[in-house]
Amino acid sequence: MPCSLAGRRPSFDYLIVGAGFAGCVLAERLASQLDSSVLIVDRRTHVGGNAYDRHDAAGILMHPYGPHIFHTNSQKVLDYLSRFTDWRPYEHRVLADVGGRLLPFPINTTTLERLYGVRLDADAAAAFLASRATPMAEVRSSRDVVVSQVGEELYRLFFEGYTRKQWGRDAAQLDKSVASRVPARTDADDRYFVDKFQCMPLHGYTRMFERMIDHPKIRFMPGTDYADVRRSIDHAHLIYTGPVDEFFGHCYGRLPYRSLRFEHTTLDREWLQPVAVVNYPSPDVPYTRTTEYKHLTGQSHARTSVTREYPTDAGDPYYPVPAPENAALYRRYEQLAERTPGVTFTGRLGTYRYYNMDQVVAQSLSVFARIARASALSALPG
Ligand code: FAD
Ligand code: UDP
Repeated sequence: MPCSLAGRRPSFDYLIVGAGFAGCVLAERLASQLDSSVLIVDRRTHVGGNAYDRHDAAGILMHPYGPHIFHTNSQKVLDYLSRFTDWRPYEHRVLADVGGRLLPFPINTTTLERLYGVRLDADAAAAFLASRATPMAEVRSSRDVVVSQVGEELYRLFFEGYTRKQWGRDAAQLDKSVASRVPARTDADDRYFVDKFQCMPLHGYTRMFERMIDHPKIRFMPGTDYADVRRSIDHAHLIYTGPVDEFFGHCYGRLPYRSLRFEHTTLDREWLQPVAVVNYPSPDVPYTRTTEYKHLTGQSHARTSVTREYPTDAGDPYYPVPAPENAALYRRYEQLAERTPGVTFTGRLGTYRYYNMDQVVAQSLSVFARIARASALSALPG
């Protein structure tokens, strides 16, 4: 619960910086399994990190930091989160606006059929893509991943402009892992994700986080920057889920993060678009995608709320930028982190990894298992 610590010098077993998935999962585990006292601070005024959701002025549930769709192959992660929420079944579908036509994305047989006016079964689609693909001895970048799978033309139509806008750099300067998130398909599956479990928290992410940290041993101070409390709160251990380079005063230079500016509108109509997200790969459109929340949440409302995303370098750090030179810079910070006793760095920003929510939950459960093992060892006699 939110708290004030005025009037005494507080002391906790754990101080956790950041109330996103990484911070909340660890707080919950430490309090409920090890009976540790935990203080979470977040410079934002709410719980949930980037997965926070809230109702806008029209009463429509929306995601202020961009659309968050839960998907995982991990039964363990699903089971863990299911202690704090029920789920709404939801399979995400995305359309790409290519020259004013809305085509399924990732590229599938329907995309190819609509674009080229051909009929394709799986074998024919594979042959069609192979005939356009550029063979490569070595696939090094995100550009290579796409061009080697689907060729130059489809790369230009679906990836080139979107990626330049999203990352502020060419796909040739991004790790393979980025474009590998959305591979082309040779069937008509038009779901964005193919994970075994795909769903949304029934009452939203924020409600889930609130239940996670609703524990007598957990205190939460929203609107509090770590820098302002680090000397005034006693704690045996620090868990830091903010940007790792910021923790160390950017001593080796700044790690690049990509940010987003969100333009949120409520429209006087029931629906705007046929699916939750429409992507705009064209370089002539300044935003990357438009999200219409009611598709995600299942909410009924006479009006509809939508958000456009404009990528930018300035603003909150949303995306670590996967590229070799950034990985090399991160490794220097990682080595420094390993030599910093009493502090655990974790989460998307703390470990500079382009992680989805389920990966952060899995990472946090592993970090907790390590802490629990160490604590059990230290409790052994002799
Ligand atoms: P965060 O959520 O970033 O939390 C870190 C917290 O630390 C922040 O709240 C920050 O305010 C706080 N903090 C940092 N420094 C300080 C400080 N000095 N003092 C106090 N507080 C501090 N994942 C999916 O699985 N599916 C999706 O559909 C999806 N969509 C996404 C869309 C967007 C636009 C973005 C940006 C991400 C998306 N993700 C998605 C990824 C998901 O947001 C992350 O995996 C997850 O939220 C990371 O959790 P975290 O706790 O590591 O970090
Ligand atoms: N991408 C693209 N065109 C699209 C959608 C995605 O070029 O229409 C590329 C782009 O580089 C993007 C990456 O694929 O950053 C991964 O897409 P994803 O939807 O996973 O990104 P996220 O949801 O994390 O923003």
